[in-house]
Amino acid sequence: MSKSLEFEVTLYPDPVLRKPAAPVETFGTDLKETIEAMFARMRESNGVGLAAPQVGLKQRILVVNHTGEDSDDLVLVNPEIQKLWGPRDVMEEGCLSFPGIFGEVSRPEKVKLTAQTPEGEAFEKVYEGFLSRVIQHEMDHLEGVLLVDRMSPADKLKNKVAFENMVHDYKDAQAKAER
Ligand SMILES: [Zn+2]
Repeated sequence: MSKSLEFEVTLYPDPVLRKPAAPVETFGTDLKETIEAMFARMRESNGVGLAAPQVGLKQRILVVNHTGEDSDDLVLVNPEIQKLWGPRDVMEEGCLSFPGIFGEVSRPEKVKLTAQTPEGEAFEKVYEGFLSRVIQHEMDHLEGVLLVDRMSPADKLKNKVAFENMVHDYKDAQAKAER
């Protein structure tokens, strides 16, 4: 077997984070290796969720673990939101693509999804509470919607310089790569 896959987290404002992700059509070894490498990246970065665009892949794959327990590993392939409901709750969110930046985001309490397992088996499930929030955050990534779009105007203002620094660092890295 070849050297195992390793991913880096794609940082804002890399344009791949703004592109809608395409459905996964092939269920096999490549998909499983991608999922394993996404979990490894998520754990190393101390995240609770990771979407494929965050490792530079325009595919509809999410990995989530909202507790840190191995038994709570959740993989969602081709997830689609069927319903969002319940009282809206405001909570501070972070994102691996925005290191060190946090902002309050309002989301409905419950989400009903259809998705597929890594084997391609279709299922439907309702998620609530913190897990629902994590999933809604990761679903946003598949549509190119980011923390900066969702956070309260006050938090957006509070983090203004941090966002500008990220844009500056990105442009700097691009310029260096072109040299
Ligand atoms: Zn995120």
